Amino acid sequence: MCGIVGYTGPRQAYPVILKGLKRLEYRGYDSSGVALLKDGSISVYKKKGKVADLEESMIGKNIDAQIGIGHTRWATHGEPSDRNAHPHSSSSGKLAMIHNGIIENYAQIKQELQKKGYKFLSDTDTEVLLNFIEDIYLNNDDCSLEEALRIALKRVSGAYCILLIEQDNPDTIIAARKGSPLVIGIGKGEHFLASDASPIIEYTKEVVYVNDYELAIVKPDELILKNLGNEKITPYITKLDMELAAIEKGGYEHFMLKEIFEQPSTIFDCLRGRLDAKEGLIKMSGVDNNIEQLINANRIIILACGTSWHAGLVAEYIIEEICRIPVEVEYASEFRYRNPIVNKGDVIIAISQSGETADTLVALEKAKENGAFIFGVVNAVGSSIARISDAGAYTHAGPEIGVASTKAFTGQLAVLMMIALSIAKHKKTITDDRYSALVLELDQVPEKVQAILKNADELKAVAEKYKNASDFLFLGRGYNFPIALEGALKLKEISYIHAEGYPAAEMKHGPIALVDEKLPVVFIATKDLYHEKIVSNMQEIKARKGKIISIITEGDTATAELSNDYFAIPPADELIAPILTVVPLQLLSYYVGTLKGIDVDKPRNLAKSVTVE
Ligand code: GLU
Repeated sequence: MCGIVGYTGPRQAYPVILKGLKRLEYRGYDSSGVALLKDGSISVYKKKGKVADLEESMIGKNIDAQIGIGHTRWATHGEPSDRNAHPHSSSSGKLAMIHNGIIENYAQIKQELQKKGYKFLSDTDTEVLLNFIEDIYLNNDDCSLEEALRIALKRVSGAYCILLIEQDNPDTIIAARKGSPLVIGIGKGEHFLASDASPIIEYTKEVVYVNDYELAIVKPDELILKNLGNEKITPYITKLDMELAAIEKGGYEHFMLKEIFEQPSTIFDCLRGRLDAKEGLIKMSGVDNNIEQLINANRIIILACGTSWHAGLVAEYIIEEICRIPVEVEYASEFRYRNPIVNKGDVIIAISQSGETADTLVALEKAKENGAFIFGVVNAVGSSIARISDAGAYTHAGPEIGVASTKAFTGQLAVLMMIALSIAKHKKTITDDRYSALVLELDQVPEKVQAILKNADELKAVAEKYKNASDFLFLGRGYNFPIALEGALKLKEISYIHAEGYPAAEMKHGPIALVDEKLPVVFIATKDLYHEKIVSNMQEIKARKGKIISIITEGDTATAELSNDYFAIPPADELIAPILTVVPLQLLSYYVGTLKGIDVDKPRNLAKSVTVE
């Protein structure tokens, strides 16, 4: 997590950095800070809280500098405070550094430095790494800062993206990464550095994605890339395919609402060029070019975290149903630390919005070592997971800024559905009629989501009624069971209300004890194979005086009558329904959160791109 920005060139650095930090705030907002270098002296300004707090504290300060680095933090080591905010200054005051990641062996290095007399002003692992670099730099004759950094990085374990400036080096930023992302924008006589491309796109579209174990020496008119062995690497320049408008709020009060309302077009973009409704066909190069690998998979293991894990669960149900391949869905964080059985012939599908999720990345490396084939389902183009995958399909949802994932999730569902359909077709585990019917249904999803969004106000009224509840239960069956989990997660994230998702039938094995007249229970009760069963579960809740909020299929008056409140969605095949049923749940959480006065784009303790373990 954490957002980092750097600038060196002819412009004033501070405004570029400040704007960049605002764009990266989704990555963390415990504190922020900048270090500006001018006339051989480094000034560091930092503040607990959001970037706006830093901005306010900077009024009247001297911000004149053409080189600087800035950071917005998601604390891992040390509480959110001014003291622990980045940038950190080295003991001598000659160096300043920002860091995204975790130095795992920091405690040992800290002890060694303390024995040498170093004093620390913060509780962070970052300050330890910085002083470790400085110690090597100052105590070895003829050792350049770059060389000291290389030596230090060979000793540390963990993840980092760091930007380092030196008082006596008036125009250079030294950067390095392992496990945390770094993009460098190439301008005319200037360079921009950032955790993702959003702070860069308004200045240049030419970027270099720095790889793990690479070092960048960045001056206004020079970019040198090296590996840790001090060998030069030719920078690979990529053109950004992103517009500024995509990362601005466009008149919506929150990014989350904008992103919910973008779903008809993001799902359309995801299907475009892949799903041909006229021909009744799906073409996905990532799948088609590796079809033998996929149809002959002994097993598919889906690795993901958070909301992406819920998309994985939906995919498990769908792939097993139509492809007849056994599927396991794993939390990447668990998978990487247990001793999983992965063999050649296994296919791993990695799902991640940011493509930088640390746990998923490491889990993939492990699976790759064991010979598994890696297929990435990723939103952020050019991200680390996309790059280490053997093949993949982007979700094409565009930049997602709101911390709670919405459009990336529906994009994941659409991509996974297309992958499943393609495999099933090639494997001949689906009839032609069923395949064509599902292709057509998928094609209609953007239109149906649009119809759901038209009635968003109905959910605002429901939210108003239940916003003060202290707990919520979300229940679903079959393909909609993972959507119950997702509905509960969304509500927890942005309204701070305790919520649990359960398979509706499991309710009897425990959670039913929670039901009383104060408990809202959200049922996903659209018309499908399990409809009658879920209606019985609703009766069981009603008998115990729980408040029923249901998501039903249009025209289902019987289920509507059974509910205290309901929201109707257009009819859809049960395999496709999860892409629709999740949308009212996103809206319900959004309205509950905002009615409670919570900043839903930046809920407490969270950050969007979880680049630490
Ligand atoms: N470990 C550093 C800190 O706690 C950086 C945190 C991060 O990248 O999330 O300040």
